[in-house]
Amino acid sequence: MPIPFAEARRLILEHVRILGVERLPLLAAAGRVLAEEVVAPCDLPHCDISAMDGYAVRTADCRPGTLLEVTGFIPAGGRPQPAVTAGCAVKIMTGAPVPAGCDAVAPVEETEERPGSVRILQPVSPRRHIRYRGEDVAEGDVVIPAGALIRPPEISMLASLGRVMLPIRRRPRVAIVSTGDELVEPGETRQAGQIVNSNAFSLAAAVQECGGEPALLGIARDDRESHRQLLGAGLDYDVLITSAGVSVGDRDLVREILAELGVRQVFWKAAIQPGRPIAFGVRDNVPVFSLPGNPVATLITFEMFVRPALLHMQGHAGVVRPTIKVRLCEPAKKKPGRVRFLRVQVRASESGLVASTAGDQNTGILRTMVRANGIGILPAEAQQFAAGDEIDVHLLDPIWTLREGA
Ligand code: AMP
Ligand code: MG
Repeated sequence: MPIPFAEARRLILEHVRILGVERLPLLAAAGRVLAEEVVAPCDLPHCDISAMDGYAVRTADCRPGTLLEVTGFIPAGGRPQPAVTAGCAVKIMTGAPVPAGCDAVAPVEETEERPGSVRILQPVSPRRHIRYRGEDVAEGDVVIPAGALIRPPEISMLASLGRVMLPIRRRPRVAIVSTGDELVEPGETRQAGQIVNSNAFSLAAAVQECGGEPALLGIARDDRESHRQLLGAGLDYDVLITSAGVSVGDRDLVREILAELGVRQVFWKAAIQPGRPIAFGVRDNVPVFSLPGNPVATLITFEMFVRPALLHMQGHAGVVRPTIKVRLCEPAKKKPGRVRFLRVQVRASESGLVASTAGDQNTGILRTMVRANGIGILPAEAQQFAAGDEIDVHLLDPIWTLREGA
């Protein structure tokens, strides 16, 4: 019996472990996942600093029209200067430390500079244009939690705190094995009846996109020895993904040979369309995903099952893409009993995000996958959707690539 979609994903995530930690320099950590939380070793800013080019002043002295004696100049990077006394001011640049005694900065545009002095033209309120020590980050704050993706903002924060080496989750090394006598490699001459091994490449690209390191082990031919050799080699990696040979055809050997190699099957067949024949197993700590061979089903099952597992292994806090509610532009029908993955084009309209079908939904139509920027998830028991009904969608592309029409 095929198992429900949610159950299949739950079982997978239950069986994959989080990988170990490596220490990486700051920039190499970009795009990776932080293994331990980062606690601020100091305050940010380190001291009270000026947010403007102007004059550090004592606001009690600053009625409009007042002339203040200028007793010093502090450029950015300048050393802190002695306290400023009543009736005096210090010229200060953005980013420079505010001297003791001053409680505001009067921007240069609101003053009139004189030789040795400055006239204050506008009222100055206390605390104005000073960035106070610790107002951004206080020493001891948890500034980035474990499991966070390191994006440019995290890099900025880590650099500001002087963190140059970071504990980062290891990338999974992912073996990819295609199976089938009909396969030739891209670029090879193809005889009638042969098809190109596109899955190895689409899977490798998908692995890279979610942070893994793919290893293309080649094509296992439809005989036991060839399967033994390549599947056996694949089990030396952190993850093994196979394509095709997992259905009920006479030469579908993947499950049989995996069992012989000691892989314990966790499930075979999920109540989904496309992708139903997917199998999942484990040997020791190595998860093995046997994906269907049809290129559309291969990509969709990768997206729904393998991607979350690879993200989990890297310690990501969130492993499933956010689900957004999108209105269907046209009716849709499905058979009950399986979750249906609908390849859709999502675009912005005046009434919010809407989805239309990306083309013929037959599993054999790869172009529909190429056109899609989202996958609609139609629940197992549903049968009919009217135009205007809301469905759940995973956006595959960043929102800014949503194309009008296309
Ligand atoms: P199978 O599961 O072996 O019956 O294969 C299902 C379908 O997927 C067949 O049409 C295969 O030709 C196709 N297929 C299998 N492997 C690949 C591959 N590596 N790249 C592209 N298509 C494939
Ligand atoms: Mg085959």
